[in-house]
Amino acid sequence: MSDQDIRVTLGLRPVINVSGTMTSLGASIAVPEAIAAMTAILPQFVEIDDLQRKVSPVIARLTGGEAGFVTASCSAGITLAVAAAMTGPDLAAIERLPDTTGLRNEVVIQMGHVVSYGAPIDQAIRLAGAKVVPVGQATSARRYHLEGAITERTAAAVYVVSHHTVQYGLVPLDEFVAVCHGKGVPVIVDAASEYDLRGFLAQGADLALYSAHKFLGGPTAGIVAGRKDLVRASFLQNLGIGRGMKVGKESMFGTMAALEAWERRDHAAVRARETAHLELWERTLAGRPGVSAAIEPDPTHNPLERLRVNLRPEEAHITAWDLADALAAGEVPIIVRDHEIEHGYFYLDPCNLHPGEETIVARRLGEELDKAQRSNEIIATPLERRRNRRAEALMRWPD
Ligand SMILES: *Cc1c(COP(=O)(O)O)cnc(C)c1O
Repeated sequence: MSDQDIRVTLGLRPVINVSGTMTSLGASIAVPEAIAAMTAILPQFVEIDDLQRKVSPVIARLTGGEAGFVTASCSAGITLAVAAAMTGPDLAAIERLPDTTGLRNEVVIQMGHVVSYGAPIDQAIRLAGAKVVPVGQATSARRYHLEGAITERTAAAVYVVSHHTVQYGLVPLDEFVAVCHGKGVPVIVDAASEYDLRGFLAQGADLALYSAHKFLGGPTAGIVAGRKDLVRASFLQNLGIGRGMKVGKESMFGTMAALEAWERRDHAAVRARETAHLELWERTLAGRPGVSAAIEPDPTHNPLERLRVNLRPEEAHITAWDLADALAAGEVPIIVRDHEIEHGYFYLDPCNLHPGEETIVARRLGEELDKAQRSNEIIATPLERRRNRRAEALMRWPD
């Protein structure tokens, strides 16, 4: 194989990712341990349930749960966990799903947790045949809302930990668990992107679900961890609706390797490197007209920070979104974190860079801001056009 970047060989743009761990950009950089594990197992036959048996204690050790298994994604994990709460280990019921006749089939979730992570979370719940029962309002949920939503038809409660959710006014996990357990309802925590592998089970969650391909740097996969009976019932869904969420031996073994690598990783050194990137970009932007940059903590307290870059177009001569687009359009495309761009800022996330890419980002920021300064007009295209760009491009796919 040649040394050429595989993306260039394929005719794909060699993007630099400063937006975070995004499915749309290929999630994360897989760690060498995961790649080696996948390479080792791919040519071999294995008894697949036994391989999952080997992964289970590793998941248990890292999460503090009783057991665990690997599925296709965290999103698949939500569907399987909800299915498990409805069917238990009843194989006939498992084969009947999404028909839930005769089963408890309601799933409560705080309205402020009904998010999209690229697809609607409520759909991941409904996919199992369950009915979503929203609790409270978008920015307000109290104990009484939760108590009032739980009935004899309630099979499970889903709790989401994510920057996507409303970050105030909702029931915290410990109280959520206390209310649900008081009524015999298991709690499933979607912690897809959270570095904290132990905390949610420690707070009483019955199942905690993670993505293997996000902070862990594993293959595309999901991790289901927690109470053994519920993990088993989730695993058994592979005989039913889980079939379409099948995960291969390489993802099972790759996830196990990524977890073990996470256990051994020098997290302080990683953090120090990421902080150095942020400081480089901060220095690059300092003193530029109309630009202010500040290092901000992660909204859900993951041990990472991002640089928030604010643009005042009158002085910088460019809007935040035009700068983001200019960076993305360059010969080396740089994709920034732009989910709040209508407010006039974007973030630079330092967690997914190959060595040296941080200096390319710094150089390109400087180049585009210099160019804007020289421009007599303020570069300000209407935001409406940008907003629907992805949907419009998808409507033309695969062209
Ligand atoms: C990314 C994410 C998911 C989906 O995870 P996948 O493993 O990519 O399916 C679900 N929930 C939240 C909160 C996420 O951030």
